[in-house]
Amino acid sequence: MLLRRLEAYGFKSFAEKIELEFGQGVTAIVGPNGSGKSNISDAIRWALGEQSLRNLRGTKMEDVIFAGSTKRRPLGVAEVSLVFDNSDGKLPLDFNEVTITRRVFRSGDSEYYINKTACRLRDIHDMLADTGLGRESMTVIGQNKVDEILSSKPEERRLLFEEAAGITKYKHRKRDALRK
Ligand code: ATP
Ligand code: MG
Repeated sequence: MLLRRLEAYGFKSFAEKIELEFGQGVTAIVGPNGSGKSNISDAIRWALGEQSLRNLRGTKMEDVIFAGSTKRRPLGVAEVSLVFDNSDGKLPLDFNEVTITRRVFRSGDSEYYINKTACRLRDIHDMLADTGLGRESMTVIGQNKVDEILSSKPEERRLLFEEAAGITKYKHRKRDALRK
């Protein structure tokens, strides 16, 4: 499944709307220190539903919203959209392109959209589970993650294999069913 496009507004250092097109093959993002390369991978992670502030390199959810600079006032909202090529039908939706959007306001309110239709975070997690893009997946591997995997406990490492094998979705459903 190909990530075709990323659009972000107000996310971290991106005070202006950015639009990145990704072609086939490998895309490398280069730039000086502090220019926002990692903020792009944070944006992808965040739009995929990341809730861990540590993984997003912040201390509160508001930290993903543009905080202002000497020339610009802070913004009140951050928004990221990921546009996936779904012509192979990997996502269970009858569309050739699927757009996931996440928006957060300074008040803390969050909004999620699939193809511009409002949904719950849960719907995004369900849609992505077992596509390889889910929450505990290896879609975005941070600089410290490789060390973490090597030194993780067998039970923790097992979660990675379960995600890769496509059974995470069923485990979540079982957990929810037992809770009811
Ligand atoms: P390096 O090469 O050092 O890894 P990088 O290109 O990955 O650098 P990032 O970590 O993506 O850089 O960007 C860091 C910059 O983003 C810092 O200048 C920081 O001030 C800015 N930044 C982070 N969060 C916000 C925010 N909420 N508002 C404004 N700027 C922010
Ligand atoms: Mg970086």
